[in-house]
Amino acid sequence: MPELPEVEVLRRSLAPHLVGRAFRRVEVGNPSLREPVRPATLRRHLLGRRVAEVGRRAKYLLIGLDGESTLALHLGMSGRVLLTPGASAAGPHEHLRFFLDDGRVLRFRDPRRFGLAFALPTRRLPRDRHFAGLGPEPLADGFDGATLRSAARRRHGPVKSFLMDAGVVVGVGNIYACEALFRAGIHPRRSVARIAPQRWETLAASVREVLADAIRQGGTTLNDFADGEGRRGYFQVSLAVYGRDGETCTRCGRAIRRLVQSGRSTFYCPRCQR
Ligand code: ZN
Repeated sequence: MPELPEVEVLRRSLAPHLVGRAFRRVEVGNPSLREPVRPATLRRHLLGRRVAEVGRRAKYLLIGLDGESTLALHLGMSGRVLLTPGASAAGPHEHLRFFLDDGRVLRFRDPRRFGLAFALPTRRLPRDRHFAGLGPEPLADGFDGATLRSAARRRHGPVKSFLMDAGVVVGVGNIYACEALFRAGIHPRRSVARIAPQRWETLAASVREVLADAIRQGGTTLNDFADGEGRRGYFQVSLAVYGRDGETCTRCGRAIRRLVQSGRSTFYCPRCQR
């Protein structure tokens, strides 16, 4: 599944090609994504407008048009966005094609169709139901230990589930929650009610570091993600604990363990994480 780092890499790779371009035509193949795609609404917001910026909120790619409208794309479980030259025919599972004024085509492919594509007035973004409940961005200025500590007030659950709650902080999926907790030396089952202020600082810094490292390294290899130019096999991050149960901890040499929390696998070092 594409995680925040993949979407951020996609954003960075698309931005220089999209900013300044105008949308000429929108083609919708199969509109049955996680929510039905509304071709008329897409066209009304997109056609004739120029791309002013390519942004991101959580795992949504936000293509801003003339400051008026925003095209939001979410990759879901298996979505890919490609920018290709020329108007070649739609490939398999290619549900959306956006034709640009320079002849290139922005394509949205999604075999499992858990992705999303919708357009809305930019001023309505903060109140839109897709965004209204989202917590802070982990890579934004101001995200720190105090952010996490205040969100943890009057809560008791395990810290790993807490980190993966998009209302607490967005974009920390299973892989990066495991990696951040390892880096911070915190046991994934530890209750958020029993984490000292200094450890919250360490954890916030660790979340930022693992995401920034992944963005730098180009994401993870766990899916067939391609960046906006269609390069494949580009993502390779070194994971310290995720998927490494039975292998030795890089820090202490003890075997990495796996447990299941909320139906998801958690990987951790029983000596380094307390
Ligand atoms: Zn260890």
